[in-house]
Amino acid sequence: MDQELIKKINLLADNLSDEIIELRREFHMHPELGFSEEKTAARIVEEMKKLGLEVKSGIAKTGVVALLKGQEEGPTILLRADMDALPIQDKKDVPYASKIEGVMHACGHDAHTAILVGAAKVLTEIKPWLKGNVKFLFQPAEEGPGGAEPMIAEGVMENPEVNAAMALHVDPYYAPGEIAFGIGPINANSDEINLTIFGKGAHGARPQTGVDALAVSGQVIVSLQQIISRMIDTREDVVLTFGKIEGGYRRNVIADKVTMEGTLRTRSDEIREEMPRLIEQVLQGVTSSFGATFSLEIEPSYPALINDAVMAKNLEKTVLELKQGFNVNKNFSPSMGGEDFSYFSRLVPSVMFRLGTGSDDKTKCSAHNSFFDIDEKAIPVGMKIFSAAVFRFLEGELDGKSSDNGKKSRTNFSPGE
Ligand SMILES: [Zn+2]
Ligand SMILES: [Zn+2]
Repeated sequence: MDQELIKKINLLADNLSDEIIELRREFHMHPELGFSEEKTAARIVEEMKKLGLEVKSGIAKTGVVALLKGQEEGPTILLRADMDALPIQDKKDVPYASKIEGVMHACGHDAHTAILVGAAKVLTEIKPWLKGNVKFLFQPAEEGPGGAEPMIAEGVMENPEVNAAMALHVDPYYAPGEIAFGIGPINANSDEINLTIFGKGAHGARPQTGVDALAVSGQVIVSLQQIISRMIDTREDVVLTFGKIEGGYRRNVIADKVTMEGTLRTRSDEIREEMPRLIEQVLQGVTSSFGATFSLEIEPSYPALINDAVMAKNLEKTVLELKQGFNVNKNFSPSMGGEDFSYFSRLVPSVMFRLGTGSDDKTKCSAHNSFFDIDEKAIPVGMKIFSAAVFRFLEGELDGKSSDNGKKSRTNFSPGE
């Protein structure tokens, strides 16, 4: 990349830093839950219009897309931020704490949104050098039920057609100036399980006259874990959790029905496809051996996020090229969590990276906690990396045509390779 351009990006982001930190605090004070991000979206629209960008709002209720057309024709890269907050009470003692009772930006989506506005400002300033387009996408409801999928359904990947996508997530486990990412599936396919065990009611003193749905459920929970330890390749990552179980009437009544709610997390798409059959097979065996029956529903939720190998390698080069002392932490560890940026990653070569925001006790607090906060020094870091990576992509250095984006192969977690 052109050295002059790199200097320009760094300077512009540094100059905008205070303004964007202020914006982040404004979002932090006025958090909104998924699909009701109206004020946040209106503020974004205002900023995007000031920049003279083509803006579309009201996509999937509250989503916003702003298009920056470069001076020359070329490919289009999409940068994505999520806008939603969580139903958590903010307990921090800071002037910018949430003013909304019981709602809080406890996952850093306020920072994601502010950083993306900042990147739009930087990139608009250097528009004469842009050989292609940038779509700035602000989506609702990442925390669930998901805003990415409905925005895609409403056509955000078209006009102009998107060729690649990028996103970031703040991360208290890394320091400001540090980023981390993996290649291939960096989190999990997440599916929802609804299971009901049917038995036969009876007097608690005469269990032999009924079928105890509670006792069968106990066997079911234990047996289903055997799928993971005995029926799946031990090198595969699979989690099966039942977080809710309900059944029974009183101490001396044999329960005729138990409902269970669970979540199934898988790294590979093949195992994701195989699991329902195995679950069904174990359920058949266990329930029939005790005379019970069952009904099973597995609802697919967010797919695993796939980081494209070429995009990831070029992201690393971009970080080093900025010459700001930023570094890529190689100890990235993938999670079994969900993230709906994954829907974009299933359509075009994509990369999502963790942006380090933890520097002391306060900012090392984990996300989804009442005391969550970030070290705001990370805000210009995110703006610089986004802006420089866009250039790399549009200059064709990042061709986005990775042959193996890791969908089939096992994860390679070393971005340096
Ligand atoms: Zn979250
Ligand atoms: Zn989040």
